[in-house]
Amino acid sequence: MENRNDKYEEILRKREIRPTAMRILILKTMMDSAEMVSILDLENKLETAEKSTIFRTISLFMMHNLVHCIDDGSGSLKYAVCNTDCSCSVKELHAHFHCEKCDKTFCLKSTPVPVIALPDKFVLNNINYVLKGVCDKCSNKQ
Ligand SMILES: [Zn+2]
Ligand SMILES: [Zn+2]
Ligand SMILES: [Zn+2]
Repeated sequence: MENRNDKYEEILRKREIRPTAMRILILKTMMDSAEMVSILDLENKLETAEKSTIFRTISLFMMHNLVHCIDDGSGSLKYAVCNTDCSCSVKELHAHFHCEKCDKTFCLKSTPVPVIALPDKFVLNNINYVLKGVCDKCSNKQ
């Protein structure tokens, strides 16, 4: 009999994270979500998980480049699962879109962030590239 969690276990193993029931649950919840999620969003979606557990799990996922985060200006960081081979280097960063109507933030995975020329000896570690506007669902309602 095929285990329906096989897919998630494999993703975790590939990132050298030991699959536990909680890690699988959090990964699945994130992958099922069309928009990025905050720690609070996960807490609301997962009634059985404690905030500290969610926080530790997300930190672990971040360390293994399984998820990335963005500061969308809403006051809480938003997280999403990375592409399979992502190593979260600056070159791999994509743009994000924050909808000012529904307050959701989306990964624009096929839109790489523009390359910015920096002054001499400035070292780039991260780019927080967030576009703001109205998402497809909200613009349809107008
Ligand atoms: Zn990544
Ligand atoms: Zn929207
Ligand atoms: Zn993203």
